[in-house]
Amino acid sequence: MQKQVLTILGATGSIGVSTLDVVGRHPDRFEVFALTGNSRIQILAEQCRRFEPRYAVVAGPDEARGLRELLGAQSTVEVLHGAVALDDVAAAPEVTTVMAAIVGAAGLSSSLAAARAGKRLLLANKEALVMAGEVFMDVVRDADATLLPIDSEHNAIFQSLPPGFDYGLHACGVRRIILTASGGPFRQTPLEQLAAMTPEQACAHPNWVMGRKISVDSASMMNKGLEVIEARWLFGVEADRIKVLIHPESVIHSMVDYNDGSVMAQLGNPDMRTPIAHAMSYPERIDSGVSSLDLCRVGKLTFEEPDLQRFPCLRLAYEALRIGGSGPTTLNAANELAVAAFLDGSVRFDQIAQVVEAVLENLPAQRLSDLRAVMDADEEARMSARAVVQSLARG
Ligand code: NAD
Ligand code: MG
Repeated sequence: MQKQVLTILGATGSIGVSTLDVVGRHPDRFEVFALTGNSRIQILAEQCRRFEPRYAVVAGPDEARGLRELLGAQSTVEVLHGAVALDDVAAAPEVTTVMAAIVGAAGLSSSLAAARAGKRLLLANKEALVMAGEVFMDVVRDADATLLPIDSEHNAIFQSLPPGFDYGLHACGVRRIILTASGGPFRQTPLEQLAAMTPEQACAHPNWVMGRKISVDSASMMNKGLEVIEARWLFGVEADRIKVLIHPESVIHSMVDYNDGSVMAQLGNPDMRTPIAHAMSYPERIDSGVSSLDLCRVGKLTFEEPDLQRFPCLRLAYEALRIGGSGPTTLNAANELAVAAFLDGSVRFDQIAQVVEAVLENLPAQRLSDLRAVMDADEEARMSARAVVQSLARG
């Protein structure tokens, strides 16, 4: 067994911390080359002391100075800063494996850098695939990179498909992909109360502990919408073959429905260390620290159809995917801006969907031929979203 040499992009976040938990259980398998974190320098310093990476990357010179001070003069960790350094540690020749766990569009460049360098790419940063789907998958193919999904639903689908499904899901006899969703904290909140929900309420997810952006996305079910688009690109499957099913217990992480009536599913306790360990050791299996699923304790598994009136963001994501081209890029950028505005108190919870819908209406979809076109569409959508947020905030 050859040791995997890892760069963890977004090491200080929820996925980053879970990844290092798995790494720490298997010092014989994994070696850390680089850890990155935008802020939370204290946590990054502790991680550097424990895992002794060659490099640490932070946002800017101030954070770099802060981290160097915390690490002290004897430390062998070289502290870098800025977006170019992120790309560099993702593509460095020594690195075999990259965990892409930066949140949002900020993670696109370094995820792509890893793909371009032909790495084993463990992709948590779903926004990269949503905003640049076709361009991203072309890079993966051309560079012969290995793309393994970390998102629990996509990891479950990957586990439920036959090996070598790359030759096409139709040829594998797949009828549909069924993405499960918890429904988030507002599944049963009376509709008329949704507008008054606070960031703290939105971030209190019933089953998973996650970063704030994805927590808000889970509350609006935009997260599931982004995941529908993510599945479209990861598995090459059209929108009308991807079904979303609410499953509040979050025990079945997703399913594949075959022509012969068989449904394959992956089950487990809701703990991201399972998909992380799966992707890190694939095709082997290693201990992740997650205990066995106790189905008697779970008792029963329940399911319901998602209500698109309650969750307009899910409808908008399907629409963006059907429109194609820059549609998903626009959706993702407008959503990032709207979520940030919700978290800082400028707009209400129900206005997140309003911002996204207005921006999708303002900007007609165009074909995206290359990364430049993706970045332009992203920027244009952010500008449009900023204007919509300002007009809503003025009331
Ligand atoms: P988080 O907010 O906890 O962590 C985000 C990480 O990205 C941090 O290390 C932060 O420092 C870094 N970061 C933020 N902005 C940055 C920037 N501009 N430049 C460089 N680094 C930056 O988020 P998370 O919950 O760990 O989620 C990370 C990604 O994984 C997201 O794309 C999310 O959708 C996806 N994901 C998360 C979970 C989960 O359970 N947390 C599950 C599935 C998918
Ligand atoms: Mg998910």
